[in-house]
Amino acid sequence: MGKAIAFVVVLISAVLIIIAAKTLFLGPNSVPTPTAPIERAKATQCLNNIRNLRGSVNLYSAEKAGLPNQLEDLEGASPFCPVTNAHYVYDNSTGKVSCPAHPRY
Ligand SMILES: [Zn+2]
Repeated sequence: MGKAIAFVVVLISAVLIIIAAKTLFLGPNSVPTPTAPIERAKATQCLNNIRNLRGSVNLYSAEKAGLPNQLEDLEGASPFCPVTNAHYVYDNSTGKVSCPAHPRY
């Protein structure tokens, strides 16, 4: 009986030491926060918006033999980033659509 309790105590101590070490070496930000999945979902929505807008620009240019003057001329996806609410940057001479907050998209 005494050995079993000692074993459990050692086990719990080992888990606590591992958690403490992780926090120490990786920092408190390594523990996921509840807002992180929401931010990730919004960033994914931004990527989807940009893909939709690029597709719409292609469709528009195929149908009307010219690029749209502005993103508001397109139907469908919102021209605003869901993370920052910034208007997407659109170049009506090249048809390129990009997000100022997410330049890698
Ligand atoms: Zn964005």
